[in-house]
Amino acid sequence: MPTEKLRPLEDYARKRDLTKSPEPAATVKPRGDQPRFFCVQKHLASHLHYDLRLEHNGVLLSWAVPKGPSLDPRTKRLAMQVEDHPVDYGDFEGVIPEGYGAGIVMLWDRGTWTPVSPDVDASLKKGDLKFTLDGYKLKGSWVLVRTSGRYDRSRSADSYGPGRGDGQGRSWLLIKHRDDWSGELDITTFAPRSVKSDGDLEDILAAEAPDIWRTNRPVKGGETGALLAEIVERAARLKAIRAAIVPARRPSKTTGTSRSTKRARAKPKKTARSS
Ligand code: MN
Repeated sequence: MPTEKLRPLEDYARKRDLTKSPEPAATVKPRGDQPRFFCVQKHLASHLHYDLRLEHNGVLLSWAVPKGPSLDPRTKRLAMQVEDHPVDYGDFEGVIPEGYGAGIVMLWDRGTWTPVSPDVDASLKKGDLKFTLDGYKLKGSWVLVRTSGRYDRSRSADSYGPGRGDGQGRSWLLIKHRDDWSGELDITTFAPRSVKSDGDLEDILAAEAPDIWRTNRPVKGGETGALLAEIVERAARLKAIRAAIVPARRPSKTTGTSRSTKRARAKPKKTARSS
C-alpha cells in the first residue's frame, strides 16, 4: 500500500504536552476484539462538542460531533474524525487547564459497540461504518458515513484539529437507524449529566479546580466564552456551598456505621451446625 501510515497515537501525543496535561498517556492497548468499548465525552473546549470514541486495534477511533448524537433518524449529525485516542481515554473525565483541548471533559456515555461487518478497516476505508451501541444513553443501530468532503475546508472543521492525517476526508455524518432506540427525544438535553460522576460540567470543575479560570480563561469570546464564564461562576458557588456543608455531613458517617452494626446485630448469623 502506497499510503504512509502514522504510528498509532503519534498525532495524539504530538498535540499535547503529556508531562503537563492530566490526559492519559499515549499507550496502545490491544485487548482482543470482544467486547469493544465505546464512549462519548462531552467536551467544552473552544466549542462545546461531543467526542464519539470506538475501540479498534488497541486505540479509540474518534469523531468530534459538534451538536452531539441525535436519536432521530432524520437528523444527520456532522462528525469530524479526529486523531485516535488511547483506550485509557475512555475513562477520562476532568479539567484540561491549558493547551490543546483546554476545557472540561465529561464522560457522557459509555458501553460497548459491535460493528455490523467484522472488517472495521474495510468499512472505514469505504466510508460506511455500521454498528450497534450498547451504552447507558445510546443504544441500537447507527451508521457513520463519510461525506464528499464539503465540510473539510470549512472554518468550523479547523477548530477540531487537523484530522487523522491519512489523506482521506474527515467529515462524516452520524445517523441513527430506525429501531426501538430511535425517537424524537433530545438525548443531550434529556440526559445531560456524567455517567461516571453524575455531575454536570460545573460539578466536574468544582470537584477539581474551581478557581483555575477565574482569571485567564481558555475561551473568552462568543457563545462558548460566555458559557464557560457561567460554568466557572457556578463551580465557584458549588465549591462555597460544599465547603459549608461538608463539616455538617461528617457525623453521618458514624450514623451509617452504627446502623449497619445494628442491622448485623438484628440478624443473628446462623451457625453451620444449626440445621
Ligand atoms: Mn474534543
